[in-house]
Amino acid sequence: MEKLIEGFAQFRKVTYPTKERLFKKLASGQAPHTLIITCADSRVVPEYFTSSDPGEIFVVRNVGNIVPPYAQFVGGVSAAIEYAVVVLGVKDIVVCGHSDCGAMKATLKPGSTEGMPAVTSWLQHAQIARHVFEENYDEGDERSKLLALTEENVIAQLDHLRTHPSVAARLASNRLRIHGWVFDIESADIHVYDAENRCFRTIEVEEGTEAADETVVAGNGRATAPRASALQAPIRKGDAR
Ligand SMILES: [Zn+2]
Repeated sequence: MEKLIEGFAQFRKVTYPTKERLFKKLASGQAPHTLIITCADSRVVPEYFTSSDPGEIFVVRNVGNIVPPYAQFVGGVSAAIEYAVVVLGVKDIVVCGHSDCGAMKATLKPGSTEGMPAVTSWLQHAQIARHVFEENYDEGDERSKLLALTEENVIAQLDHLRTHPSVAARLASNRLRIHGWVFDIESADIHVYDAENRCFRTIEVEEGTEAADETVVAGNGRATAPRASALQAPIRKGDAR
């Protein structure tokens, strides 16, 4: 707890004075441009790796960056999505998975969540990704398996996102875009889902500039075939060895 108090003192002394005008402006309202749904993992901090100030992104974090399908489970995630879309009018929603995700490791090894009924129940919403993975990828090494499942989970949660009425309505009239990302903790790369080509692509950042290339919009329907990974392509069933 001391660490948190010290950090707060540092924030008040150093950061707040430089952002005082921003905080005064934000005191009476927010208008974030994007909703980011990501994992609760302490190493994945979307405000940090997108250089976003307070008020810029509306963030929902949970174990496994999961979006339960609307018809199955209406809870905190659904409420946050509805509020961000209907009231705040966000223009983009990002579902962001990450490397070395404990929730994805647990999804690969279901027995590992024994004694954690809440986690087991919550991760049921990621089972679709596991089925897609098992039917479409051969055994690879642990890292490539985990990456493939993590990517499939992002794609599955994008599908779930489309079942939310507020999202579906705005997607239909192009007032909203949805994106799938995987954040690599070690390299600090972001891999973006390219629905048209059924793959993840790394956002290229030119050295020495502040701008990144345009990210790829995912939202043109469900991909139907296995995807190659931008990091390390898992071996697909039927592929020549
Ligand atoms: Zn995670």
